[in-house]
Order: sequence, then structure tokens, then C-alpha cells
Amino acid sequence: MKLITIAAISVFFVVADIQAQTKMFVSNPAALQILKGNYNPVRYKSSAIIDHPDSVRMGIIRSVNSTRMMNLLARLETFYNRNSGSDTLSKTTGIGACRTWILSYFDQVSKDNDNRLVTGYLEFDADICGKGHHKNPFALLPGSDTSNNEILVIEGHFDTRNEGRCDTTGYTPGMDDNGSGTVLVMELSKVMSRYSFKNTILFTTPTGEDEGLFGAKAWASFLSDQGVKIKSVLNNDIVGGIYCGQTSSPPSCPCFGCADSTHVRIFSYSPAKTPFANSAHKQLARYMKYVQDVLINPYLATPMVINIMQGEDRTGRGGDHTPFRQKGYTAVRIISANEHGNGTGKAPDRNHTIKDVIGKDLNGDGQPDSLYVNPGYLARNTILNGVVTGLLASAPAKLPITAEVRYPGARIMLPKGYTGADGFIIGIRKFSSNSLEFDSVYRIRQTKCIKIKLEKGQKYFVSFAPISRGAPGLFSDEFEVN
Ligand SMILES: [Zn+2]
Repeated sequence: MKLITIAAISVFFVVADIQAQTKMFVSNPAALQILKGNYNPVRYKSSAIIDHPDSVRMGIIRSVNSTRMMNLLARLETFYNRNSGSDTLSKTTGIGACRTWILSYFDQVSKDNDNRLVTGYLEFDADICGKGHHKNPFALLPGSDTSNNEILVIEGHFDTRNEGRCDTTGYTPGMDDNGSGTVLVMELSKVMSRYSFKNTILFTTPTGEDEGLFGAKAWASFLSDQGVKIKSVLNNDIVGGIYCGQTSSPPSCPCFGCADSTHVRIFSYSPAKTPFANSAHKQLARYMKYVQDVLINPYLATPMVINIMQGEDRTGRGGDHTPFRQKGYTAVRIISANEHGNGTGKAPDRNHTIKDVIGKDLNGDGQPDSLYVNPGYLARNTILNGVVTGLLASAPAKLPITAEVRYPGARIMLPKGYTGADGFIIGIRKFSSNSLEFDSVYRIRQTKCIKIKLEKGQKYFVSFAPISRGAPGLFSDEFEVN
């Protein structure tokens, strides 16, 4: 039997390396001040404040709307080609018309919500498929508390490709990769703008992912150069499809045509394999699993299972979370359990082909009736993003734990007068279970000591998350208890 008592913290910030970047800028100067926390929150106050984490959580769960998202997806498809090198002059097709439409959507959401959103583009130069200048549409929902100016990022790339890497004119629907992530971001900008959060939330759809993560690299470098602090980055890339292709990048799905609408994978970086795997990114993935299991699933007709994955991405593949992680930010990738293809763009798989459409038209009426992008699955992944980000944007900052570990227990002292939390969650991983997930989770009040039964001769990883008004913050780094 070991005794764990809550006791000391010290201040810790992620230090990002600073790199000179000259060609990146936000088109709206007010956005930069908000990202840095230099603004008056009163200006962005809602006329009807709803900020209790429980109300916000239940509001997000109930108001994410799959029909609205499928309509956005159908509209996205009309831009015909969203390759980063495609047309920027047409009003109806190509990446230029598409980013204008995404920005105008954010602007309309803002108008509908007391003009609370600050919208614009992050612009940058890079040679991608013949185009030199590029734009990431974004919307910022400024937080109510500038004393903790960490922001939270929800993103999904909006560019796409077909069989030809630089086919800038051919049909390139990109409905699952990554129309699904794009409409997820758009829907959450709408749903979450009704609510008030302490921290600022950045909703963005970067470009240039399929040609080398250009848009995300631009964001990560720009934010790091500007000294912007980030609590979490959720990268959504392929989050609506439920069918397994003939190929898929390992770790792969089970069989051609197999469907899975109840599991979602979270990929994230850690320097060591299990049982170690104790990076901040893995801790975010564990947080997401906790939130899904305890705070979302009881309210869903179809509960979801989060699979915490070992790698930062599938073997040989990459995503927008990586440039953020490389700049020292905590970032994960959310991706469906089953993927239709391995990215090489070969039939009969749909990934990176002209067949990445919403669904098949079986009765010939011009409308898809057998859907490849599953509306309910997409909505559930959207809820996960919204609830996790909403809770973190209301929760206390991560506790930097320094533990004194001595038999028969670990003693962690909170600083005198610490009132930042009204309770804690303790996550415990047993070394011998060789699992990426917590083996057990406990909730305690701040003032209580708890006794946790641990087995003799076993090693454990222990971490703590502070809770305030029912909103858990990020888990601390893990420490070892022998
Ligand atoms: Zn993608």
C-alpha cells in the first residue's frame, strides 16, 4: 500500500526555438495582438455569457450538427480542385475561391455571435506546385482571461490532391482527405462561438499539407517566432471515412471493405516506446481518452473508443501536428480507425484519387446515397475536438509536478495558498502492463489524501491533472513510483 499526497508545484512554460521568418504575416493586425494576449477581453464579450464547463460541454455535445456539416462538405466539393497550386482568380473553382468561401463562413459566424471572432489569413511564400504565395484561413475566438495567454488550436488542412501530385486543374474532391477535417473546423467555429472560454481558441484550415505540410509549418514558425504560447494542437486529417481500403498505411485496418464507426486513432510523438512513452503529446492523448470515456460517452447514443497510437503518425506518413511538435508545442493527430488507401493514389482505393467523394450514387439521381464519409462518425469526432478544447480552454494550467518519491509513497506538495484547482485527477500506468493508456484513474478533492493500492515489486508512472468547476486541465508530466 502506498500513500500519495498532493503537495509542490513550480512554474513551467514550453520554450519554443525562435527562427527568423520574413514572409509570414497575418492579414488582420488585430489577430496578432490577440494571439499574444495583448487585448481587452471586454471587446469580445458575448451578450449572453455561457461559460460553465458543464453547460459548454453539454451544449457542444448537443449542437454539433452532422447535416450542416455534410452540406458544408457538398459545398466544398464544388470548388472542384483544391490543390495548393490551383486557380486563385476564379470566383467559383480552385483554392482561391475555396479559401475566400471559408473566410466568409468564419465572418458570418462572427456576425451571428456579437462579432466576437477575429478572422483573416496567415499568408506566406513557398513554391508549391507552381504557386508562390499561399493563405491559411483562420478565426480566433478571444479568451476572457489574458493573464494566461496560452491559446488552443483546432485545425484540418483544406488543400487536396488527386493521383497527380501537382494536378492543379483536374477533379480533386478530397472529401475525406481532408474535407472532413475542414468542415469539422468550420462547424466548431460556429458551435463554440456561442460560449465563453478563458483561453483564446484558433480555428484554422491550413493549405499545402499534401505537398509537404507547408501551411502548418508556416503557422508553427510564425507562432513560435511571435512567442505565442499554445496549450494544445488538435490536427484533424481524415476523420469521416469508416471503410478500410485494399491498402492502408501501417498500422493498418483489418480487411478491404471493413467498416468501423466507433474507433478513432490519436497519433502523437514520444521519444521512447512503451512502457515509457511519457511525452506531453501522449499525455494529451490520454487526456482525450479520459474525456471521451468519462465526459462524452455517457451522452452519446454511439459511444466512441479512442486508440492511443505508439507512433507520431502512420509508418512513412506525416501530418500537420508534426511542425507544431517540432517547435515545442503539444500536438496530436486525430484520424479515423479505417483508411481507404496508403496515399499512393491507386485504384480501387480512394485516398488521393478522384474517387475521394462523399459517396456513391446508386440510383442515378445525381446525389450520393451510399456514403463514404459517415455523418454520425464525423460528428462524434467533431464533438471530441470541441469538448476537449472547450474544457482545456476553461481549465487550470498544467501542473508542473516535482515529486518526492519515497517508500511507502510519493508526496507532492502544492505551494502554500494554491487555489487554482478544486480537485485533481490522478492517472496511473503500470510499467508491466506495457500500455499506452492509464491503467487506473482516480478523482480526488484538493484537501484529501488518498491511499492507492499498488502491487509490491511493480513500477508505476503517475501524473496529475487539476480540475476547476468540473473542467480538468492537462495531466502533468509522468513521474516514476517504485
Ligand atoms: Zn490529409
